[in-house]
Amino acid sequence: MNQQTNNNQENTPQTSSGSGGVTYFAAQETVYAKAISGRFRTFKWGAMIVCLAIYYLSPFLRWARPGDIPDQAILIDLPSRRAYFFMIEIWPQEVYYITGILIFAAVTLFFITSLLGRVWCGYFCFQTVWTDLYMLVERMVQGDRNARMKLDKSGFSFERIWKKTVTHICWLLIGLVTAGAFVFYFNDAPTLIQDIINFQVSTTVLAFVGGLTISTYIMAGFAREQVCTYMCPYARFQSAMFDDETLIIGYDETRGEPRGKLKAASAEQLGDCIDCSLCVQVCPTGIDIRNGLQIQCIACGLCVDACDSVMEKINRPLGLVRYDTEKNLELRSQGHNPKLHLLRPRTIYYTILLSVVGLVMLASLLLRPVLEINAIHDRNPLFVRLSDGSIRNGYEIKILNKTHDEKSYKLSVEGLEGAVLSLQGADGSTIDDLKVGPDTIGHFRIFISVDKKHAKGQDIEFKIVDNATGNESEVDSVFMVKTGN
Ligand code: SF4
Ligand code: SF4
Repeated sequence: MNQQTNNNQENTPQTSSGSGGVTYFAAQETVYAKAISGRFRTFKWGAMIVCLAIYYLSPFLRWARPGDIPDQAILIDLPSRRAYFFMIEIWPQEVYYITGILIFAAVTLFFITSLLGRVWCGYFCFQTVWTDLYMLVERMVQGDRNARMKLDKSGFSFERIWKKTVTHICWLLIGLVTAGAFVFYFNDAPTLIQDIINFQVSTTVLAFVGGLTISTYIMAGFAREQVCTYMCPYARFQSAMFDDETLIIGYDETRGEPRGKLKAASAEQLGDCIDCSLCVQVCPTGIDIRNGLQIQCIACGLCVDACDSVMEKINRPLGLVRYDTEKNLELRSQGHNPKLHLLRPRTIYYTILLSVVGLVMLASLLLRPVLEINAIHDRNPLFVRLSDGSIRNGYEIKILNKTHDEKSYKLSVEGLEGAVLSLQGADGSTIDDLKVGPDTIGHFRIFISVDKKHAKGQDIEFKIVDNATGNESEVDSVFMVKTGN
């Protein structure tokens, strides 16, 4: 993959004054992308609308839950340490689900990239979607490529000042709405809206909204294609997922070259490329696809639309710039028929991996326990010798009731002959009737006492049984009679 500089403008390393040496610094030039219409542009608008609708509206989806549990379908409830996704509820102890989701998303991305190239970058990545939205606003206020270039050269004219001011206000407002929507994923959206109206928002929320507004404004308004080229790690390692049968945006050199103006004297000997540079002018990253596949290319297909519109006008076949594989471009140049191979070792490998990760996640979700017990042995003292000579150990028992009903559990211990269990200070509960509220963790202070003739350091097992359903959960622990046991 070539590493090219933008072709919308000239990038020349600047010579430092005084020393006469080369600084190796080339200032980033503004990319003035031209508007274009066509199949891929239409698809890109559709993808943008769907992505923005999902992002902005999801926090308002409701999902009925019992009691005080929030009715928001997608919610990361930090104060109560829960994440909700429709019928799925993730507890802090189940954070491995998040890891599973991330692994699944990564393998899906690898799979799609190996098949279709950088379609994620071109149509669905949040950087692309928001940059597209910001560019739309810019175009609506300041005009298309030529008008914007002229405006930027017009000094401090009244027209420039008001158009730039309106653009930046709109960008900041979009940033604000974007940041606001993000915060809704961590709070009950209708309640937070009410709090905002009543000026009762916490400083944490305000800080998040402020920070995200500014970062959206900078990333989509100014950094734009530089995020894809310099900041995003995916652009760097995507070539590891490519092979010569991955779909890329390619220029058909065999058909296009030698390029030249339509009205050139030698036009008959020229290829189909009329060197109009429209494909370069519409490119949001400012590159010339005719120079080959480059790391800056996000596969948005806008140059395909541009070139197709030119080919249509000059009555030549469409697809001089198109989605194709490197292998097919080469086959055509040798006069062979191109083929598309979807089943390749790489795609088969990713399919297997994706299926395994998906099945493991599905199985773990379906078999997810609704009851868990944890036991923490006292660290100090490890044991107590009572006046009658018996040995006593103390434990902190946590019972996780993941159901939406209040439960009663019976606690027992196994592996310790003559063990006597006692409960300290739990309102209304006994060892045979430990009460735990719906969707909560019950904390209990437990003692085990054993006659000295049975007391020896050994492994034990705590077991709880749901008194209503017989559902059980066990956890291993230890009984100690001296330090080091
Ligand atoms: S070269 Fe074409 S596909 Fe690649 S980023 Fe530019 S316009 Fe999009
Ligand atoms: S738009 Fe097509 S014809 Fe025009 S310069 Fe690009 S490749 Fe050549």
